[in-house]
Amino acid sequence: MKPGDISDFDSVGQCRDCLHHRVTGNRKRSRFYLCGRAKDDAQFPKYPPLPVIDCKGYEPGGADPWTRYAEDTD
Ligand code: SF4
Repeated sequence: MKPGDISDFDSVGQCRDCLHHRVTGNRKRSRFYLCGRAKDDAQFPKYPPLPVIDCKGYEPGGADPWTRYAEDTD
């Protein structure tokens, strides 16, 4: 990583390791973060604008989605 690069955590924020996130993608290898809380609570957007900085629904402990997504798609 070069100086000035944005880390994955900086670009995604709290969703990155939240228990409620899910990652989807498309054929162009774009990746999208979905909030699982959105299904039952309208105050959470299904696709939260990133980075998520101070989410009251955040619960740490979710697996690293980049690793999990790569394992699912490789
Ligand atoms: S609850 Fe907040 S931090 Fe967790 S996935 Fe939803 S938007 Fe992201």
